[in-house]
Amino acid sequence: MSRKVDIAIIGAGPGGIFAAYELMKKDPSKKVVVFDSGYALEKRHCPIDGKKIKSCISCKVCSIMNGFGGAGAFSDGKYNITNDFGGTLYQYIGREEATNLMYYVDEINMSHGGEGTTLYSTAGTSLKKVCMQNKLQLLEASVRHLGTDKNYVVLQHLYDELKDLVEFRFETKVDRVEDLAPGYRLTFGEESLECDTCIISVGRSGSKWMETICNDLNIQTMSNRVDIGVRVEIPAEIFSHITDELYEGKIVYRTEKFEDLVRTFCMNPKGIVVNENTNGIITVNGHSFEDDSRKTNNTNFALLVSKHFSEPFKDSNGYGESIARLSNMLGGGVIVQRFGDLVRGRRSTNKRIEESTVQPTLNATPGDLSLVLPKRILDGIIEMIYALDKIAPGTANDDTLLYGVEVKFYNMSVALDEHLETNHKGLYVIGDGSGVTHSLSHASASGVYVARKIVEA
Ligand SMILES: Cc1cc2nc3c(=O)[nH]c(=O)nc-3n(C[C@H](O)[C@H](O)[C@H](O)COP(=O)(O)OP(=O)(O)OC[C@H]3O[C@@H](n4cnc5c(N)ncnc54)[C@H](O)[C@@H]3O)c2cc1C
Repeated sequence: MSRKVDIAIIGAGPGGIFAAYELMKKDPSKKVVVFDSGYALEKRHCPIDGKKIKSCISCKVCSIMNGFGGAGAFSDGKYNITNDFGGTLYQYIGREEATNLMYYVDEINMSHGGEGTTLYSTAGTSLKKVCMQNKLQLLEASVRHLGTDKNYVVLQHLYDELKDLVEFRFETKVDRVEDLAPGYRLTFGEESLECDTCIISVGRSGSKWMETICNDLNIQTMSNRVDIGVRVEIPAEIFSHITDELYEGKIVYRTEKFEDLVRTFCMNPKGIVVNENTNGIITVNGHSFEDDSRKTNNTNFALLVSKHFSEPFKDSNGYGESIARLSNMLGGGVIVQRFGDLVRGRRSTNKRIEESTVQPTLNATPGDLSLVLPKRILDGIIEMIYALDKIAPGTANDDTLLYGVEVKFYNMSVALDEHLETNHKGLYVIGDGSGVTHSLSHASASGVYVARKIVEA
């Protein structure tokens, strides 16, 4: 006979952590077990050291994406409090509740080591008008920037508070979820466990697994979009008037040629560009540190174009993966190219990158992004760089570095009701694994929301 608990949570990313936190606050008598295929926080180490191991060696369990803290553990820790981007949680629970929950998450972060960090806001900024005058749109948001270092401290504090109240099972991948009606049986290796209620919060790294579970349990899914583009790296001074005031400006541009939307994403003032491994495919990302001693001379941000396929080809993520694979095939990983080389139709070389006035913060392979990115996407990115050059002169300099490819994969959307519950009673799906959220604040808020619904039920 399997052991039985009240609630099992699959995934210890922000969604799972905040669900566990809220459950313990609202009803400490509940027996809660949290599973994660990755390691406990202190055991999470990416082997890339820049010396012996320079690029991703595809570890069996990726420490960047898996383990306590999930994909967010080594992230820049930017908690965007907004319904304008980062997920569609508001469509399920309403804008006001979604916003309140995001502020609640912010309070918890502040009381667990995040105090002293800045909450930036677009309210009243003159940049909005400057953007409009240049065919750009600045999205509204408040942004709490914890930074990679403080984000880690907050996670440590949350773990310390939870570890005696909740049972964590790290290095334990849940293989199967069976509906016992009532209750669920989770199988992991040779073992199993039964629970009354199950919260699935497996994030992007669990996307393929989530698909299998939905097939097994006959839960409907809908295809989602994929965002494809590049990461731009420039001297920090060029964007300082934006980043000093807002930290991150979410700016959208409608291209003249195709009327596609191109947007900035994940801005990292004085930060670094990093590799990201999603299911063995190496893409690019970025983060920055709150600690002054770890700041660089460069700012980086992504420029992304969304693609959504429906019929007859539905696999938006598969499309993004193929493009990322192509860049991995040509560059052995991430490719870097000077903007000047791209517009002149030539590849970048080691020599041209070395002579560049912008020193790359990621060791990537000099190459030609026009051999990787579809023309329509590349044209949109080039147009946007010239548009940004009008509000931040120097963005379109020849030495601006472009890293490719950056791909934002979105999980397919799981059919959920207004409680984020599936068609199986007591089975909830939250965070990025549900396709509803794709950010730290939305994923965390969805965890708090479901915990409250469970306690109220
Ligand atoms: C490098 C990087 C930087 C980022 N920066 C930001 C940022 O600044 N701001 C922002 O808003 N967002 C950022 N993001 C995105 C953000 O991290 C995610 O939106 C967020 O972590 C989603 O939370 P989650 O709990 O839904 O899933 P995740 O954080 O992905 O956690 C899911 C967890 O589930 C576990 N899991 C998966 N399958 C199983 C299984 N079968 N059994 C057991 N465990 C399983 C995984 O090991 C993982 O730990 C960043 C992401 C990356 C990769």
